Amino acid sequence: PATAAPTTVPARQPGGFSPEMARQDIPILHRTVNGHPLVWLDNAATTQKPRQVIEALGAFYGAANSNIHRGAHTMAREATEMYEAGRAAVAGFLGAESPQSIVFVRGTTEAVNLVAQSWGRANLGPGDDILVPVLEHHSDIVPWQMVAKETRARIVPVPLTADGEIDQDAYADLLSYRTQLVVISHASNVLGTVPPVREMTALAHRYGARVLVDGAQAVAHFPVDVQELGADFYAFSGHKLFAPTGIGALYAKPELLATMSPWQGGGNMIESVEFARTTFAPAPHLMEAGTGHISGVVGLLAALNWLTSFDRAAVSAYEESLLRYAESALSAVPGLEIIGAAPERIAVLTFTLAGQDPGTVAAWLDRDGIAIRAGHHCAQPALAHYGLEEAARASFALYNTSEEVDQLAASLRRLQGGGR
Ligand code: PLP
Repeated sequence: PATAAPTTVPARQPGGFSPEMARQDIPILHRTVNGHPLVWLDNAATTQKPRQVIEALGAFYGAANSNIHRGAHTMAREATEMYEAGRAAVAGFLGAESPQSIVFVRGTTEAVNLVAQSWGRANLGPGDDILVPVLEHHSDIVPWQMVAKETRARIVPVPLTADGEIDQDAYADLLSYRTQLVVISHASNVLGTVPPVREMTALAHRYGARVLVDGAQAVAHFPVDVQELGADFYAFSGHKLFAPTGIGALYAKPELLATMSPWQGGGNMIESVEFARTTFAPAPHLMEAGTGHISGVVGLLAALNWLTSFDRAAVSAYEESLLRYAESALSAVPGLEIIGAAPERIAVLTFTLAGQDPGTVAAWLDRDGIAIRAGHHCAQPALAHYGLEEAARASFALYNTSEEVDQLAASLRRLQGGGR
């Protein structure tokens, strides 16, 4: 029987990259769907998991399971060390000042809600503006609508250009001393657009506004440095980064986090409790009421180790070439129109097919073992900008190949040709 807790599964040899190296580690990519090898092109919804992550979860529950931060026993200490090692790894991954500026959350949605409920309720009031580009995911809109209603702040949509970029002139015009917050996705889940976040943040700061960057779609595709970006808040979800569902992180600038009140109360976030008075633990524990997703953190740590074992510049360059290849392959499909054409984007292609509704396209591809997403992609205002309610979306990760793009294009051509 195991005695010592395996904190992580041994990492691969660092350096280098090829999609085959990544594919070898992902067991699910070797299954079939409807009699065809799986082609997973729904990475913007969630990514598939390397065996290093799957094994780390098994190792945790098989040999190291304990609650953390309490109980003076060996297992609690080991679990606490793993949890805090995960926090330090996230801080390193994001270029944060310290592990204490990282709060574990369920995912991006919870991170945005945390900021809205804690920072937003304390800092927003009548006459204040929250700037939100039309491009944004619903989770960057709805939490602010809820807080705006309570605080009587105003949400100001920032328009898009025809290419699907945030209109920078309009943004500069809309910013004012009323602006308290700007919310921007580092990469769009629907058009792939990567806006100039650093420049937009610097401009917002001139007006004293805070900037929340939604990194849900960015972190798997290119390295992020929150200090270089100047972001006040940065959020991501583990499951879009090869880690389990139910775990994510919020970065907050240390001086900002220090001013924030807890948004949930309970165990783990207190120093002492009396009926007359409760004193709180310091951040980030203050923001983590109750038992956290400990195995999720273990899985996230394994995922970060896995991703960063590759040459990330090579990963980004590969994904860029795959995007260009897919653009040209899909453009050759009769009646296919790609939505958005921002020059800076991640490998996400949203498209329509003449004469087919997106649900039919996704169902057709599924019969060929190809998984894409059809729907509004939780970005209804962005699709409405193009006069659409729904669209099909193929989204790529480092383990996708040009052969898979060929299969996608061939299946779509067969659909347009009228049969299999
Ligand atoms: N923000 C963006 C840009 C996303 O793409 C998503 C997920 O699709 C989210 C936020 C929400 O992420 P989660 O559902 O993991 O909280």
